[in-house]
Amino acid sequence: MGQIPPAAPGSTGPPGQWTDPPRRDAPAEPLTPTERAAVLAEPLALAEPAALAEPAVAPGGLAAGAQLCGSVLQSGRPIFEAGLALLLLVVLLRTFIAGGYMIETGSMAPCLLGYHRRVTCDSCGWQFAVDGTQGEGLATCPNCCRDGLTLEGLPLNDGDHLLVSRPAYEFSPPLRWEVIVFRNPSRPGQAYVKRLVGLPGERVHLRQGDLYVNDVIAPKPLAVQRGMRILVHDHDHSPPADEPDWQSRWEIETPGAGWDERGGRFLYAPLERQPAIGGEVEEWVGYRHWIRRGGGHRTSVRLDDWPARLPPSALVDTRLQYVGDARSLVATGALSPGLRARLAEQADDEAFTRSLASLFAASHVAPILDQYGYNYGTKSGSSHEVRDLMFAAQVALRGEPGIFAVVLDDGELTCRCEFDTAEQLVRLVDDRTGDLLRQGVLPAGLREGALVEISLWDRQALVAVAGELVFEPWLAPCGRTARGPTPWRPVRFGARRLRAEVSQVKLYRDVFYTSNLGERGSSAVEELGPDEFFVLGDNSPVSKDSRSWSEGTVLNASLLIGKPLILHLPSRRQRVQWRGWQTEIRIPEPSRIRYIR
Ligand SMILES: [Zn+2]
Repeated sequence: MGQIPPAAPGSTGPPGQWTDPPRRDAPAEPLTPTERAAVLAEPLALAEPAALAEPAVAPGGLAAGAQLCGSVLQSGRPIFEAGLALLLLVVLLRTFIAGGYMIETGSMAPCLLGYHRRVTCDSCGWQFAVDGTQGEGLATCPNCCRDGLTLEGLPLNDGDHLLVSRPAYEFSPPLRWEVIVFRNPSRPGQAYVKRLVGLPGERVHLRQGDLYVNDVIAPKPLAVQRGMRILVHDHDHSPPADEPDWQSRWEIETPGAGWDERGGRFLYAPLERQPAIGGEVEEWVGYRHWIRRGGGHRTSVRLDDWPARLPPSALVDTRLQYVGDARSLVATGALSPGLRARLAEQADDEAFTRSLASLFAASHVAPILDQYGYNYGTKSGSSHEVRDLMFAAQVALRGEPGIFAVVLDDGELTCRCEFDTAEQLVRLVDDRTGDLLRQGVLPAGLREGALVEISLWDRQALVAVAGELVFEPWLAPCGRTARGPTPWRPVRFGARRLRAEVSQVKLYRDVFYTSNLGERGSSAVEELGPDEFFVLGDNSPVSKDSRSWSEGTVLNASLLIGKPLILHLPSRRQRVQWRGWQTEIRIPEPSRIRYIR
């Protein structure tokens, strides 16, 4: 199989050699510079092949597909056949009912990517995409918050390619939470991709990051949550334990008791024989959102006396203050290891050093914010606290009958999900009142190990095992009224009596819809007309969408293009060097090929 890379969209070089796709500073063919500038000035546009880069999905697409076949040939026949079937499907769909589109910008990131670069964090090894339209800069790892990751020399990749079904809405209208492709209401020559949140005739309102429809919070079903969720932390990609500014985010709360961690897996075996009936789960592993530096949260610890040898001026130009009346030492953001060491040395006071140590640990635990690894530099500024989290892990429950429990806390609601192997039940309980909210049969797969997903999003608690809901999601009777205090341990899991193995532990968050870009729907309720839709991008801090379109510029049904079905032919560029000669080739990424949810 030939490895000649296909022509890049906008390529001006000879076949087999990549040139960078067009950027802000480098307008390129085939669009005229004016058109190119117009498209790129809209940072969230989806490039239509006719308008932007025909080779993005036509000859280039097929060539990349051929490369995919080449790579799967080596890994076995079933995969090859699956790849071939998908390729045929793509060709058939493209020929008869669907159009191909390439995304330019990151308004739907990280679900769908525009031009981007791939960064691998040098601390935790997590690989993530960053905006490719901004040029060089420094990125921050979304998994371990290591900052200052250089983008220098990283190849620029195309955006995701979408296969869009044009006749989809002829048969049934689009549904809420679906990803849709439509013409920009103010520039119908451009195609956009966003998520549909408001339907004709509805009243739409964004409040505290959530969507309200006709004054009622709109919860997301499991499939939508899986499509939209944004990684907060993957425990399998934890930084090395000896990094001075890092501590594990999952903490065994009672060391020396039944929980143990080995190679990223949490194992529970009760140390003592516990009674078969009664008794609460008392041994927990808790999540604390440890950050390396920065932050705007305030933390205080008790300090009875200011150390005699330390002048108060030592705190000038630091984010520390001593409140004598309250006898507390207060930090804004995370206390740096350097400042802690300097002050401790200067003061030479045991009580002060102890207070500093507690403040160091406490101040590094921050609220979870709506940060995106994709956004960096001038676009990275977003700081809304996100309370809607999903816990996902592979869980196996064996040994004596007992209980495995997961608790999620959004500051106002605390839901406890109990997997009871004695009664073979799964219970959802309001942890503050003890009320039973839902009950279902314990799925049999948990003995061997199964994926457990539990979320508390949009005031809705949902429990799934092996991808299936255990019972109907439970929706709190009213929306978010008060936010309550920040939950410093928003997720915990614990066990009693049985033996539990918890691995592949991940924490995700919901999209927090911001009001920083446009007023519509956020400062006031938006009333949609009989033919009007309301759409939002998943990358809410940078997405230009219905929030920012001026009055009278509505998205009506005639502007809908179709429903994206498949993300296909994604690839990334790899720089290849040989004896001073270097080029870039396109490496297929079959793992990104998927149906759109
Ligand atoms: Zn990292």
